[in-house]
Amino acid sequence: MKPPPFEYVAPSELDEAVAVLSEHGDEAKVLAGGQSLMPLLSFRLARPSVLVDLNRVSGLGGVALDGDVLRIGAMTRQREVERLPGLRERCPMIVEAIEQIGHVTIRNRGTVGGSLAHADPAAEWTALALGLDAELDVAGPGGTRTIAADEFFVTYYTTTLAADEVLTQVRLSIPNGRSGSCFLELARRHGDFALVGVGALLSLDGAGAVADARVALIGVADRALRAAAVEAALRGREPSDAVLAEAAEHVTEGMGGRTDVHASEEYRRHAARVLTRRALATALERARGGGELG
Ligand code: FAD
Repeated sequence: MKPPPFEYVAPSELDEAVAVLSEHGDEAKVLAGGQSLMPLLSFRLARPSVLVDLNRVSGLGGVALDGDVLRIGAMTRQREVERLPGLRERCPMIVEAIEQIGHVTIRNRGTVGGSLAHADPAAEWTALALGLDAELDVAGPGGTRTIAADEFFVTYYTTTLAADEVLTQVRLSIPNGRSGSCFLELARRHGDFALVGVGALLSLDGAGAVADARVALIGVADRALRAAAVEAALRGREPSDAVLAEAAEHVTEGMGGRTDVHASEEYRRHAARVLTRRALATALERARGGGELG
């Protein structure tokens, strides 16, 4: 089907974009890479009367690794982050997660901000934001505000962004020093949305014990989840295969469940335990200075 008719606005400044959104409220939608929005319009699952195209708005692009912070403009294409020199060596889970988003053509157009604002519960970027303690900058009619990732995702395709707000930048916190990370997912075919995905990051102290652990999951609930019980079971421990396996068993605590045509709740819980154990094992190997990248 063709999309229903809409008015198209292509501002060059952020203020203009926010002004149009404020004027039209729920009737307006921001257009970024169009990889999720255009199919929704074509299937007539969304019927905005105004589309505000962000592609000509200045200042919303670019990605840079600045010390322990990865800054990503909301309109940065996913592929640009994937290809950032040095990122795979510094934080492999980011590149490994992006590589599993659809296909290259989708990542060439799809933006980081678009994926986060769309908030698909199986979107890799939602796990990265949650697991890497992202801060999200948002511009609205009253000025700007910053939202922590754990306060951003509400439920299926729903965030705490207001209808008249634009996501402008996301900052991920990337530990320095002795750390390793890994992202693994299970999908029916390469390029499909994940049935279950797990991002794991371990930082070690001077004695080799776990100083920090971060584990985030997608596909298992109505939004990405942080596996706090796994993290707590690892912090301060001397990591071994047995410790990682025991910690991974905690992943289903507080998970709830999700059953759909692709997989049952039980299957997802089992896959989450297995992927968590494997992702932690690779993260540990990398933190210790080994482990192949990508
Ligand atoms: P758009 O489609 O333009 O917008 C999506 C939504 O976000 C809209 O509601 C829009 O109004 C809003 N929005 C966009 N930018 C902003 C902003 N800056 N501020 C406020 N609101 C904003 N994604 C995955 O994560 N994993 C996959 O495996 C995957 N596979 C895919 C396979 C196919 C065949 C296709 C077509 C898409 C797939 N995607 C997948 C989705 C893809 O990653 C999209 O690019 C992404 O979800 C949306 O980004 P976009 O820039 O295209 O946003």
